[in-house]
Amino acid sequence: DVKVRFCPSPTGTPHVGLIRTALFNWAYARHTGGTFLFRIEDTDAERDSEESFEMILDALSWLGLNWDEGVNVGGPAEPYRQSQRGHIYLEVIEKLKASGHIYESYLTGEEIDERNKAAGRAVQLGYDNSERNLTEEQRAAYRAEGRSPALRLRVPDVDITFTDLVRGEITFPAGSFPDFVVVRPNGQPLYTLVNPVDDALMGVTHVLRGEDLLSSTPRQIALYNAMFEAGITKFIPQFGHLPYVMGEGNKKLSKRDPQANLFHHRDRGFIPEGLLNYLALLGWGLSADQDIFTMDELAAAFDVKNVNPNPARFDQKKADAINAAHIRLLTDEDFKARLLPYLQSAGVVGATLSADEQKILDAAAPLIQERLVVLSEAPDLLSFLFKTADQITIEADALDGMPENVAEVLAAAIAALNEIGEAEFKTDPVQSALNHALIEVMGLKPRFAFGPLRTGISGRRISPPLFESMEILGKSETIARLEAFAR
Ligand code: GLU
Repeated sequence: DVKVRFCPSPTGTPHVGLIRTALFNWAYARHTGGTFLFRIEDTDAERDSEESFEMILDALSWLGLNWDEGVNVGGPAEPYRQSQRGHIYLEVIEKLKASGHIYESYLTGEEIDERNKAAGRAVQLGYDNSERNLTEEQRAAYRAEGRSPALRLRVPDVDITFTDLVRGEITFPAGSFPDFVVVRPNGQPLYTLVNPVDDALMGVTHVLRGEDLLSSTPRQIALYNAMFEAGITKFIPQFGHLPYVMGEGNKKLSKRDPQANLFHHRDRGFIPEGLLNYLALLGWGLSADQDIFTMDELAAAFDVKNVNPNPARFDQKKADAINAAHIRLLTDEDFKARLLPYLQSAGVVGATLSADEQKILDAAAPLIQERLVVLSEAPDLLSFLFKTADQITIEADALDGMPENVAEVLAAAIAALNEIGEAEFKTDPVQSALNHALIEVMGLKPRFAFGPLRTGISGRRISPPLFESMEILGKSETIARLEAFAR
């Protein structure tokens, strides 16, 4: 059975590339009917934070990327936070020491450099594997000097070849890297050890992760081989490295780039469906002619073999278009529910909706659903409907392109609207009355007829459809605003 994992280190805010990795693992688990495991790699006390951990949880739950085993849900390999697994690593380390796969190394970094210089070797080559066969006397002598050993993995002198699920066969020739440190002299095990140890003990079958980790893979395979020989694990997982996410100017999307922060998109008003759909397109596609798809469609079709190895560019315009398409797919009720927090946090409506606010929202939401790209556009578009005439301020650009006879236009509109009864003040009668008075009788172009009316009722150059907005405001409010604007 397939078991994949998402195992972030909790540093900083969640990066879109990180969440794309989570999404592909989720999709592969759902596609294969396998298990999606969530582990936290918080072994770096200096950089890791609880705040960042909470943000990752927030991101996954907002997006609905649910996991089957791991943090908070438990499972057979508890605990799922590496900071609580120290005793488990100790046991594995003891076994690998006993089997001779890891050994004590006492030389300091400076001493290793000196040895290379003395031997005429390039310093960059790093460690020379010279302590593989220290005698007990040599070790005792080092300890007598007060040294504590690091532990290194004995790397066999053979090519390491594996078939990357995304990139195909990759070979790291023998001697590509020396015996490397897996436990620091202070006893702290390193990522290169704890990550494969956990994958092995948790039964992970497929490691799908970012391309930035490709260089650690041969080391981890060497460790896996050691664990296999020492009887700690029964199999070695398959690896697939997901393409980089690039930003502007063909550079990797950097942490400092606002677009890199997942929550930047939520704040702007992406809905989870839209963001997930776009993130899936960073390296994968459903078909050449279908950009818009649901999570169910993704899960049904996703195969890591179809991931494109080439770097994927984060294209905000495309992301926006995809989000807009998903907003249009929401039902009326759902759309309103998604909109509400944005209206509330902008102060357009209260924390609990009054009956009046609810009525306005019910009528107004359908007017903007088709044209919204992100939900954060809604407060500006709708706020005039929740205000009273005296709260409307006219924005400067809403006065651009007013006809010279704007006073006359407003007077004619007010007169025509006054003819309509309170109860008949609906979109269609309002539209015909204004068409008649302004277009037919006065002979105005629509832009000059309706521009001033839009500015008058909303104070803005752009608003939801005019006649519908007037219906929502009602007769007296509409006329009061036009009169106020005319003064
Ligand atoms: N904790 C590692 C990271 O966030 C996970 C790497 C992996 O997936 O193996 O980079």
